[in-house]
Amino acid sequence: MRVHLDEIGPDGFDLDEPVTKEWLQATLGPGTPFRSVKDGHLSAHLERLDEHVVHARGRIALELSADCSRCLGETTLGLNTRFQVTLFPAGKEPPPGPDGEIDPDDMGISTYADKEVDLSQIVNDEVFLQLPMNPLCSESCAGLCPNCGKNLNEGACQCAPRADLRWEALRQLKVD
Ligand SMILES: [Zn+2]
Ligand SMILES: [Zn+2]
Repeated sequence: MRVHLDEIGPDGFDLDEPVTKEWLQATLGPGTPFRSVKDGHLSAHLERLDEHVVHARGRIALELSADCSRCLGETTLGLNTRFQVTLFPAGKEPPPGPDGEIDPDDMGISTYADKEVDLSQIVNDEVFLQLPMNPLCSESCAGLCPNCGKNLNEGACQCAPRADLRWEALRQLKVD
């Protein structure tokens, strides 16, 4: 995922390579609910805006699995995202606006060092921006019965009286 500045010619530079599942798992770090099950893909087109400034746009496609945070069932999660970023040599990036706010036009700003653009940082950022904190097998997942542990997606359990699920969600919030 590294491109040396000298490789970016007048027509730019096209990068097309796998995001290995080993790299992805290491990036997700310990304690992540996600498992990297297969290689993803990164494609990007890089252009030099001037001698030092590089513009990169591309697409990241990844597939991960995780345990649903409600029912603990295995679920597959696809991430397919486009990115655009302007890269400046480290230390030469434009300063934030006067009020410390980042101009929306400057959202995609990053830096590189030693004349080498490393897109792995961008993949890393996108992964953490796009992945949900609490993965769900479906938005309407009914979860597990807090009494008997039955997966309520497979039907109601015998616990009586049945607590209202919305109530139950509130109660769990307080306990957490
Ligand atoms: Zn679920
Ligand atoms: Zn139950």
